Amino acid sequence: MPTEPLLRATRIVLHCSDTEDGPSNSWPAIRRYHMQVNGWSDIGYNYGLELIAETYVLQPGRPPWVNGAHCRAAGRNSDSLGLCVVGKFDVNPPPPRLVTLTASVLAFLCFAHGIKPEMVSGHREWEKAKTCPGAQWDLDRLRKSVDQRLHRMASAGVTTLHLVADGISL
Ligand SMILES: [Zn+2]
Repeated sequence: MPTEPLLRATRIVLHCSDTEDGPSNSWPAIRRYHMQVNGWSDIGYNYGLELIAETYVLQPGRPPWVNGAHCRAAGRNSDSLGLCVVGKFDVNPPPPRLVTLTASVLAFLCFAHGIKPEMVSGHREWEKAKTCPGAQWDLDRLRKSVDQRLHRMASAGVTTLHLVADGISL
């Protein structure tokens, strides 16, 4: 069996599930859909962010060294991590708490994988027919917010990260 080359991500592509984020854990259903309906080897994303019973949880997707199946355009599956926020954001904007947490998770991923904040993008920036991660996400503001977090971490001499402080359970 041919083995896929290892992913060395230099980018992150943000997505949304385009489904309502209820109180239960919907990540397994997304994984099942990708595997059983799409016929993929695993869920398409490398990470997820989902509200489960009042707590935002960072969900594991494909290992970060395995190419994703989340943005075929421009070869992004082979140079980016895919982060999927569970929710629908075309009409209603993401809640402020979620915007803050998403910026924290992206900063965490940038830090952990040595990715520059300007290399964070939204799916729609690669596939013009899509609104993903939702028309209401302000991606320039998000990048700025990730950049500010990384600067704060650098000036504080941060070498390890504790996302729990931002309300995310890992
Ligand atoms: Zn997407």
